[in-house]
Amino acid sequence: MTAPTTSELLLLWDQQRPRSRQRTLGWSDVGVCRRRAGYRMRGIEPTNPSASMQAVLGTAIHDAVAGAIEVVANGSYDTELEVTFAGVVGHLDRFHEPSGMLIDVKSTSSRWLEHVKMHGPDDAHKMQIAGYGAALVKAGRDVKRVRIDYIARDTGEEYNWPTVEGAPFSSVWVREALAWIAQVRDTDFDMLPRDFMPDSAFCRSCPFRDPCWDGYSEDRETFAVLFTENPDAGAWADELWQAREAKKQAAAAEKRAAGALEAIRPIGGTGRIVAGERTLDFRANGLYFVSNTTQPQPAVGYDETEST
Ligand code: SF4
Repeated sequence: MTAPTTSELLLLWDQQRPRSRQRTLGWSDVGVCRRRAGYRMRGIEPTNPSASMQAVLGTAIHDAVAGAIEVVANGSYDTELEVTFAGVVGHLDRFHEPSGMLIDVKSTSSRWLEHVKMHGPDDAHKMQIAGYGAALVKAGRDVKRVRIDYIARDTGEEYNWPTVEGAPFSSVWVREALAWIAQVRDTDFDMLPRDFMPDSAFCRSCPFRDPCWDGYSEDRETFAVLFTENPDAGAWADELWQAREAKKQAAAAEKRAAGALEAIRPIGGTGRIVAGERTLDFRANGLYFVSNTTQPQPAVGYDETEST
C-alpha cells in the first residue's frame, strides 16, 4: 500500500468541503453553464467528484486572504459572508463597510489573466459580484463600489478590475443575472445548452459530467453524444459547412486587415502603435494586440474561464 500523493490528499479534502457538496444553485453557478445550473435547480444529485487542483489552489488563496485580513485588517471587513438574493445562496469574499467597497477574488492562470485584461471579466464574474451586492443592499448595507481582484496562480500577478478604485455598483448586471436565472428556470431541461466542450476544464471538473455527456461510446469522440440527441446528419453537415465557410471568411478578413496595418509598422520593424481604441504590438513574427489597462472601462454593466 502506498501513501496517497499530495494532490490526491488535496482533492479528497476539496471534495469534502461543504461547497463541493452543494445541492442547489449558488451564485458561483450563475452565468456559467446553463445545463449545469439546470441540474442544480432541479436538485439532481451530483454524480462526479467536482474537485480540481485549480479549485484547491483557488481555495488556498481565498483562505490566505481571509487569514491576512484577520491579522492586518481585523474589524474593517466582513469576510466570507453567506448571502442570499433571489433565492440563490452565495459566499462573498469581502465587504469594506467604511468605503462601501465589495471585493471578489478570482485566481486564474497568467494566460487567462491576459485575456481578462484585454477583454474584461467573464459575464459570470460580473453577475456573481452583482448578486452579492444585491444581497447586501437588500440586507440594508450601503454598497457603493465593486471590484474583482484577479490573481495569477503561476506568476502571482494581480489585476484589479476595472481599477483599484473599483466601479460604481450598478443594477444592470443584477438584472442580467436574474434574466439568466429565469431563462434556465423556464427552459425545458432537455433544451438547456451544454455551454462547454467535454474536454474543457469546466466539464472535466463538473459534478454532472457523466449524466451530461452520457451516451457516447469509448471508441468515438465524446461530442458524438450530440448526435444521439439530434440524429439529423444533414443538419450537422450544414453546421460544419457553415462553420468552415465562416472560418475561411475570417481568415481572409484577418489577412486583409493585418496586411493593411503593415502600412503603419514602425521604422525598425518592431514596436507599439496606438490605433483607435487598441494598441498594436508589431513584432518580427507577427502583429499582436496589447491589453491596455489604462483605458477607461465601464462600470458593472459592461461587457468568459478558467478561474476560481
Ligand atoms: S459537463 Fe460541461 S456542459 Fe455538461 S453540465 Fe457540466 S459544465 Fe455544463
